[in-house]
Amino acid sequence: MKLDGTRVCVAGLGVTGPSAVRALLAQGAQVVAVDGRDGDRERALADELRSAGAEVRLGDGDTLPDGVALVVTSPGWRPDAPLLAAAAAREVPVWGDVELAYRLRPPGQEWLGVTGTNGKTTTVQMLASILRAAGHRAVATGNVGFPVLDAVLADPPYDVLAVEVSSFQLHWTSTVEFVSGAVLNIAPDHLDWHGSLEAYAADKALVWRSDWYAVYNADDPIVSALAARIADTQSFSLSPRAGFALVGDQLVDRGIGTDPGEEVVRVPDGGVVLAERSDIPVPGLHNVANALAAAALARCLNSATGGRLAVHPADVRAGLRAFNPGAHRIAHVATVDGVEYVDDSKATNAHAAAASLSAYPSVVWVAGGLAKGATFDELVTGAAARLRGAVLIGRDRALIAEALARHAPEIPVVEVTGTDTGPMQVAAVMDDVVRAAAALARPGDTVLLAPACASMDMFRDYAERGDAFADAVRRLPGVRPTP
Ligand code: ADP
Repeated sequence: MKLDGTRVCVAGLGVTGPSAVRALLAQGAQVVAVDGRDGDRERALADELRSAGAEVRLGDGDTLPDGVALVVTSPGWRPDAPLLAAAAAREVPVWGDVELAYRLRPPGQEWLGVTGTNGKTTTVQMLASILRAAGHRAVATGNVGFPVLDAVLADPPYDVLAVEVSSFQLHWTSTVEFVSGAVLNIAPDHLDWHGSLEAYAADKALVWRSDWYAVYNADDPIVSALAARIADTQSFSLSPRAGFALVGDQLVDRGIGTDPGEEVVRVPDGGVVLAERSDIPVPGLHNVANALAAAALARCLNSATGGRLAVHPADVRAGLRAFNPGAHRIAHVATVDGVEYVDDSKATNAHAAAASLSAYPSVVWVAGGLAKGATFDELVTGAAARLRGAVLIGRDRALIAEALARHAPEIPVVEVTGTDTGPMQVAAVMDDVVRAAAALARPGDTVLLAPACASMDMFRDYAERGDAFADAVRRLPGVRPTP
C-alpha cells in the first residue's frame, strides 16, 4: 500500500501513537490522529504533532474520521472499539504499529519475534545479547521501552531486530513474517480483550505466519497443540527430548545442523553444547526455558540466512553471560541476617508467580494487588511445599488468603491492611510488609515479592511497587549494601 498522499487515521496517542504519526508524516501521508482523552498531556502532544503537520482530534476516540483509507491503531484498543468497528464495517484496513513498522523496515533487515504470556522481555533481551555477541547490529524492541517504529527508522539500520510482540500487536498484523518466531507459553490472560482462550492463542500463533522456523515450547500443552499445525518447527524443552534442550546442566542444540568448520563440543547423540546452566545470570528454570528459546531463535537465524547473519554456539554462551536482566524481574535486593530479599514485581499473574516461586526452595511469599479476575488455587497448590509463610497486601489479597486457607492451612499468613496510595502511605505499608516477612523468615530462606497480581490499586505500576519493596528492605536493621 502506497502511503504517500493517503489519508491515515492514527487511533490512540499513548505509547506507540506519536511514533506512528511521525513515521507516517515522513512517508508523505495525511495524518489525522484521534484520542478520547483531552488532558494536559494530550494537548501538549497535539500541539507538537500539529506543528509537525498532522491533524489532531482530542476528546472523541469513537468516530472514524471521513475519507480515511487506513487506520493505524494503538495495540491496547479492543477490536470492538467503535472506531475500529466502523473501520471494519467500511472495509478500511487496520494495522498496528508492528505492521506499519514492518512495511517500513530497511532492505535486508531480519526480524525475530517473541510472544507468550510471560518471559517475552527477558527472552528478547537474551536474544539481542546473543546476536550482539555474534557481531551483529541488533536490538531488543517492542514493549521493552524501545518502540519497533523507532527501531526500523534507526540510522545506520539494524541488521536484525529481536521483537517482543504481544497478542494485541499480533492481532493487528496482516503481512508480518518473522524469519523465526517463538511462542514461549500460553496461560489465561487478557481474555477480556480477546474474548476467549482460543482467540488469544490464535493471535499468538500469528508469530508463525511465515510457516517456517516456528520455535515452540514443547513443555506447554497449549503451545504444542498450536505448533502441530505448522509445517517447519523447532522445539525447546527443559527435558532432554527437544531440538533445543536442557541435558543435565547443558543447553544443547540438536535442531539446527552445524556448519562446516564450526568449532563445537558435541554430546553423545550428536547434539552441540551451546552453554552451561551457570552461564545464565538469572535464577529459575523458567529463565533456562527463556534462554533455550533465545538460543533457538538465534540459531534459526543462522540457518535461515545461510550463515549471512551467522550465530555460532560460542556466541550463545557469550551472549547469555553478557545478558543484563531487566529491573524487577527476580532482582536480588539484599541479604539480611542470612535471608535473601528478591524483587519480582513483574510477576503480575499467577503463571509468572508460579515460575518465580519454583526458583527457590523455601520462600516467604509477598503477594497481592489486583487479581484481574484470576483464581489462585492452582498456584497455591503447586507452591505450598516451598512456602515458609505469606504476607499479603492490596485490594484482592483475600482471594489469595482464601486459597492458602483451602490448600495450605498450616502456613502462617499475615495480611497488611493499608491499601492507600501516595508515597508516604505506600512506604509505611511496605515497611510493615517487609518487617512481617523478616519475622517469618529463617536463615537460608528467600523473601520473594512475586505478587501474582497487577499493582495499580496502590502503585503507579509494577516498577513503583518493586522500588517500594526494595526501599523498605534497605531500611531493615542490619542491612548491608549489596556488593
Ligand atoms: P513479559 O515481557 O512477557 O511480561 P518478562 O520477561 O518481563 O515477561 O517476565 C515477567 C515475569 O514473568 C517475570 O518477572 C517472571 O516472574 C515471569 N517469567 C519470566 N519468564 C517466564 C517463563 N518462561 N514462564 C513463566 N513465567 C516467566
